Amino acid sequence: MTHAAPQQPAADNPDVTVITATSPMATPSHGGRAKCLQRLVRLDLPVPPTVALSFKAVHAIAAGEMPDVAAIVASFPDGALLCVRPSSEDPDWGGPGAMLNIGMNDARFVELSDTIGRDAAASLYLRFVQSYAVHVARLDPDMFDEIDQAGQEGLTLALAAYEEEAEEPFPQDPAQQLHEVLRSMARAWEGTTARLLRQARGAPANAGLGLVVQQMALGLGQGECGSGVLQLVSSETGLRQITGRYLSQSQGREALQQGTKALFLTRDPRGPSLEELEPEAFEALKAHAELMRRRLRAEMQIEFTIENGNVHILDGVRVDRSPRAAVRIAVRLAEDGIIPQQEALMRVDPHSLSELLHRQVADDAPRDVIGSGVAASPGAATGRIVFSSSEAQASAARDEPCILVRRETSPEDIRGMHAAVGVLTERGGMTSHAAVIGRGLGLPCVVGAARMKFNLKRGQITTEDGRVFKAGDVITIDGTHGQVLAGAPEMVEAVLDDSFQTFMTWADEARDIGVRANADTPADASTARNFAAQGIGLCRTEHMFFEEDRLTPMREMIFADTPEDRKAALAVLLPMQRADFTELFRIMEGMPVCIRLFDPPLHEFLPTDRAGLRDLAEALDLPVSDVTRRVEAMGEYNPMLGMRGVRLGITVPEIYDMQARAIFEATLDASRDGAPVVPEIMLPLVSAKREVEILRARIDAVAAAVRTERGADFTYRFGVMVETPRACLRADEIAQHAHFLSFGTNDLTQMTYGLSRDDAGRFMSNYVQQGVFAEDPFHVLDVEGVGELVAMGAERGRQARADVTLSICGEHGGNPESIQFCRAVGMDYVSCSPFRVPVARLAAAQLAI
Ligand code: PEP
Ligand code: MG
Repeated sequence: MTHAAPQQPAADNPDVTVITATSPMATPSHGGRAKCLQRLVRLDLPVPPTVALSFKAVHAIAAGEMPDVAAIVASFPDGALLCVRPSSEDPDWGGPGAMLNIGMNDARFVELSDTIGRDAAASLYLRFVQSYAVHVARLDPDMFDEIDQAGQEGLTLALAAYEEEAEEPFPQDPAQQLHEVLRSMARAWEGTTARLLRQARGAPANAGLGLVVQQMALGLGQGECGSGVLQLVSSETGLRQITGRYLSQSQGREALQQGTKALFLTRDPRGPSLEELEPEAFEALKAHAELMRRRLRAEMQIEFTIENGNVHILDGVRVDRSPRAAVRIAVRLAEDGIIPQQEALMRVDPHSLSELLHRQVADDAPRDVIGSGVAASPGAATGRIVFSSSEAQASAARDEPCILVRRETSPEDIRGMHAAVGVLTERGGMTSHAAVIGRGLGLPCVVGAARMKFNLKRGQITTEDGRVFKAGDVITIDGTHGQVLAGAPEMVEAVLDDSFQTFMTWADEARDIGVRANADTPADASTARNFAAQGIGLCRTEHMFFEEDRLTPMREMIFADTPEDRKAALAVLLPMQRADFTELFRIMEGMPVCIRLFDPPLHEFLPTDRAGLRDLAEALDLPVSDVTRRVEAMGEYNPMLGMRGVRLGITVPEIYDMQARAIFEATLDASRDGAPVVPEIMLPLVSAKREVEILRARIDAVAAAVRTERGADFTYRFGVMVETPRACLRADEIAQHAHFLSFGTNDLTQMTYGLSRDDAGRFMSNYVQQGVFAEDPFHVLDVEGVGELVAMGAERGRQARADVTLSICGEHGGNPESIQFCRAVGMDYVSCSPFRVPVARLAAAQLAI
């Protein structure tokens, strides 16, 4: 085949254009494939002659307006076979499959039989008849089922079957064939199903399709003929490794589909390779791929055909890549000077980074999905089902990984969550207890799996399709995709290699908004530092009391009847808190640490079952009946809106006094032998300025007392969480008393929507599926509603105090879309779960580029 450029089919029509080295550059409206092919032609690569049809031309074809097809056919060498491929703006949007061997007819069959042999010619023709029948004439694919003969015999039967089913002979005129192919591909793109499918992949409603008509390089015939694909890197790891397959006497992507018959590309102990079979062609392909990498500035997969030893490049597409490969490829392209660092940063989707930080189910592992829910904490884990925290601990003691299955979790389950490798709950949403703790621990977690039946008494869960799983059965939690799987699918490990570190350093150089972590324990703080968080933006101190030995004194304090009893309980808690804060300060080495005073929705701290009530009765030395009565008396109709946060601080101020004292003493202890500490103290659930005034005065008094007792000085920063709508509205008067305001968008979302964060999971997927909410507002900040309150709060706060520090510490702080909003309203930093810190760092960098 020669590569003489074809004649321009319509000299004055830019919508139907021959791609040559000197033709005007294909516009974006010819689609990505046309553009890429043109670049390959300009690089002087052996690309077969190609004609590109623009979106406009294809749209017109779908509407019944055909360009001069005979002229297109005539623009190729006489008797050439053609193929048509889709060329959309983004290859991920799909499109109709390629049609090969257009122009094949009885006459060409005879001619080709002479040059490439009868069997090869018959095979080409047969393939064309079959795909034309199914994809163009829309005949029933079953009509060819009976034909099992190959060669000319099979071809004759197929032509007869076509004629019978279509009630006309198979079209012989190449122009008519091309006409029908173009029409059918153009219409397929405009169909409703195809449109919905691509919209689901992010395509706009009016996305266009271009088509490219290309002369076939046959891949069948005499001498070494065949086709294959080649890329220079592994799609899995991004490491340099020539990957792909080649199949002699084949066309299109058969080499990949028939992997077992195909050859390796490079020498391989497992079997013969193209490198051994056709070393020159192999070297040429490698050189072409290198050139494409440099000049197209991307790792490309090339689709090639070898015809009698000669290489033809049919197409190039960006290499498919795992998130880990994406990072490595981007870093290497930048290190090789092919793209600037900033462009490398733009080439990785921040959402995909979280996949890198956790083990995942392998992409190609079979999935036996037995349930689904909210993807509350990413990563995957396999273990045996346990239904209680004590079973989880027992299982961990036996070194047996387990999945903790609960209706929902509460502080009592923290031990179990620590012991388990994954968590599944029936109830809950993105900000429910299990979700928040799971993300903090980096524990894969699916919550709100309401369509599975949880029968905890019987110790079993029943799947949507009626299968029963019992304690001890092995399941897998895929917290990245919100799925529960039966058994133990293959996994891929997390990787934080050198390329990842380099990549994140570049991100930090580019971004202009700070990223801190929400961290409650020393382990969280260490993770936060590993991921280069710039401090702790939220330490939820109530989470420090979930361990068994602490939960009891905490409950004693909550239950204390008299000031003396409370004082005694607080005296037990004080050294624990002081030690906690000292350790956090030491780990963070002088970086800011923002400590939120107790915000316990009380129900989270009350025992819920008999065993818990008995434990508490023992600790308090009271009869169970007494404790039960008091638990009931403390019960609230709506605990999330009850005696929480600052309300507890106002009502029982000794608690905050104790915490403030612990923070200040720890500040002095940690500063003595380490970097100086300036602690940040924050009040939760504020709705009135008076709350702030009263508690600020008390905390100042504690600070003064500690300074005097210790004879040492320190400073601290005082702040307020803005997480009620009223606090947003009154942010100006609140900011007068605060160095910083931190937006708690979990509660703010809950209160703005009037939507319980613990119950929303039950219907959220339904709401999102029906398009009532575009997204789960606990996951992606609702910019229109909640965002308006945040923007108002930020503005009013700044008006009252120009130097007020503004931040977000709700879960949205780790969500790229929400970070965009936070940056736009002028926040100084975002704070999110430690494992989401890298995601936030990259998202912030991309916003600044
Ligand atoms: C919030 O409400 O956004 C917040 C960070 O606090 P919590 O999730 O602990 O209520
Ligand atoms: Mg809150």
